[in-house]
Amino acid sequence: MPAPTESALLYKHADVSTALTVKSGHGLYLALESGQQILDATSGAGVTAIGHGNARVKAAIAAQLDEIAYVHPGFYKTTVAERLADFLVESTEGKMARAVLVGSGSEAVEAAMKLARQYFLELSPPQPTRSHFIAREGSWHGCTLGALAVGDFKVRKQLFEPLLPTNVTRVSACNAYRGLLAGESTAAYVARLAAELEAEFRRLGPETVCGFIAEPLVGTALGCVTAVPGYFEAVKAVCDRHGALLIFDEVICGMGRTGTMHAWEQEGVVPDIQAVGKGLASGYGVISALLVNDRVVSALKKGSGYFAHGQTYQTHALSCAAALEVQRIIREEKLLGNVRRMGKHMEALLKERLGGHPNVGDIRGRGLFWGIEFVADKATKEPLDPELQVAKRLHSRGLKKGYDISIFPATGAADGWRGDQIWLAPPYIVQKRDVEEIVSRLGRVVEDVFKELA
Ligand code: PLP
Repeated sequence: MPAPTESALLYKHADVSTALTVKSGHGLYLALESGQQILDATSGAGVTAIGHGNARVKAAIAAQLDEIAYVHPGFYKTTVAERLADFLVESTEGKMARAVLVGSGSEAVEAAMKLARQYFLELSPPQPTRSHFIAREGSWHGCTLGALAVGDFKVRKQLFEPLLPTNVTRVSACNAYRGLLAGESTAAYVARLAAELEAEFRRLGPETVCGFIAEPLVGTALGCVTAVPGYFEAVKAVCDRHGALLIFDEVICGMGRTGTMHAWEQEGVVPDIQAVGKGLASGYGVISALLVNDRVVSALKKGSGYFAHGQTYQTHALSCAAALEVQRIIREEKLLGNVRRMGKHMEALLKERLGGHPNVGDIRGRGLFWGIEFVADKATKEPLDPELQVAKRLHSRGLKKGYDISIFPATGAADGWRGDQIWLAPPYIVQKRDVEEIVSRLGRVVEDVFKELA
């Protein structure tokens, strides 16, 4: 039994005393029970794309509730789920053929892995040996066992190793700040990474590889690492050469976060399977999706005719209604243009305010998704002492009264567990003055934390 003053809820963090109780949210701000107002500069974890407390979404959910909240997805269809799937497929301008609607980002990644496997089993003739996934260092794909296995966020994985699926191997991420060699051109870097992937296919035997999975913009674990131009075209060519599927995990970087609806629109390639989540319903519903191209769909059509994946809460009507309204708002209010404009403003301000700081090694990102990597030495890029827990300190300091800003600490995946990054991902509705406020608050947090450590 919990102590009388303690909630029975098992929190992510054992020390619940550090968790802040939220009373309400409006736009960019969270009102805490203590009276403190926090500027939610991370949209939770890249979720609340249109901000908190949106009246239109509330009304759409209520209207759906008046009709139906839930039906079993194996027995019944709903118009709202079909509309959302149509919207998602249309948003790819014909590049994708079908959508699968599930719950969390982790579930979407699991479903993508199963679908990739099923595709090869249903091809004519089938290719049953293809069960292996190639993933990348420093990625985060979710917390369920399959998603953990393809991910590489070491501090979140270590407790559970060895993980159930052992058919995952890893190649280097494309990370110009850490990976580009002195004097190496971007083209040479791309060629080196493509050769590494090619060698991994050959080592495993291409006939055993089902898919290559990557985040087009690495979010949670590495803090907004974009690929260098040409990288994804090169890795797609390797996958195509060996007949493997290209799977993009856009759970955090998709649905407009980078300034285009899909992150792949800026990479010159289209994946075979794509997972989206967070921004899809902006936190007003629990929903994620897979977008699947015709290559995969037609194999299933000619095969068993269905995707062998049934979950109770698949196509949940309330979440679909929320997602559909959120997406209508993003489109009608032309928020992707705002993401691009405000993203540029944010980049300029971050570089102006923090670019010269002796511990700021790199400022990178795209759209409204910006990461900062902190180092002990700017010239050598030596990471900070992990004992200092700088990213966590920055996060905790941000939440203190007088700073009042949420900052996402990304630590534990880079450079053999060393590395301190933070990231920001404000809602798409930010205005210039909000961006200025975010950078100003972050600047004070960074300056004060490093002054304290000096
Ligand atoms: N994939 C990526 C790229 C993510 O950033 C996340 C969450 O941070 C996930 C998958 C897992 O999503 P969820 O936490 O909704 O299960």
